[in-house]
Amino acid sequence: LTRLRGRLARSQSTFGKGVLGLLGGGDLDEESWEEVEDILLSADLGSTTTTAIVERLRTGLAESSVRTAAGAREVLRTVLVDELLPGMDRSIRALPHAETPAVLLVVGVNGTGKTTTVGKLARVLVADGRRVLLGAADTFRAAAADQLQTWGERVGATTVRGKEGADPASVAFEAVASGVADGVDVVVVDTAGRLHTKTGLMDELGKVKRVVEKKATVDEVLLVLDATTGQNGLTQAKVFGDVVDITGVVLTKLDGTAKGGIVFRVQRELGVPVKLVGLGEGADDLAPFEPGAFVDALLG
Ligand code: GDP
Repeated sequence: LTRLRGRLARSQSTFGKGVLGLLGGGDLDEESWEEVEDILLSADLGSTTTTAIVERLRTGLAESSVRTAAGAREVLRTVLVDELLPGMDRSIRALPHAETPAVLLVVGVNGTGKTTTVGKLARVLVADGRRVLLGAADTFRAAAADQLQTWGERVGATTVRGKEGADPASVAFEAVASGVADGVDVVVVDTAGRLHTKTGLMDELGKVKRVVEKKATVDEVLLVLDATTGQNGLTQAKVFGDVVDITGVVLTKLDGTAKGGIVFRVQRELGVPVKLVGLGEGADDLAPFEPGAFVDALLG
């Protein structure tokens, strides 16, 4: 929790200092409530989520007889945790099947931290005792396969890559086929993230999934979303959601942004649980998303 707090320091200035600072001061007048709204909007919560949170806060505080800063914190905490749908299943399905490995497709726009996330995730899985194979199907970005292979060597996972410019679906297929043949536990596929046209992406990503499914079950399609990109990122995410069924979101770059409020919108707007969060560039900077701990860190 201490580490999470450190990494979320900038968003904490919004929620802990900003919102809690206002709520802790006793009954709020209309002007102060507007200030609460402005703070939430500035942290990228969007108008629907902001309105919902403010309404629940007003009701919660009106119903609570406690008028202390600690009481206000408790009400705020409950409202924020509830908004993050604490009951959702956020586990990563990475257990091998009888004859085939678990297959995880990692999708997202270039630059969001997709390749880095694959590396970090592989590290977690290897540390958990799984044999992991990485598929470098991001054949569009020239350095992506090298970058992935470096991660593989670093964390102890084999990497299957194609020639530069190869068809991403054929590389994904090769990776999964090789994972089946070698009897590995998990294959994690890094996919291409170009987004010129929705049709291009649809064809490519849809094909990757279809081709892989000839060999094995796809257990997870994880969408990587850069927390600093706000509405733009969410719009892109919806395009991906139209193409493949997303099973979970990985929200990256939550460190160093005051816009951590995007977390509160993702699930409401995409209908998909946030499963992991990226908290830095290092190998250990990927954490399971846990609403209670997350809100505690935000409130400081
Ligand atoms: P891709 O194009 O989506 O595969 O993106 P990369 O994995 O190459 O990442 C793009 C940049 O974002 C790199 O400099 C990463 O180190 C950085 N990055 C990835 N995840 C995080 C994160 O959680 N926090 C921070 N601060 N940087 C990150």
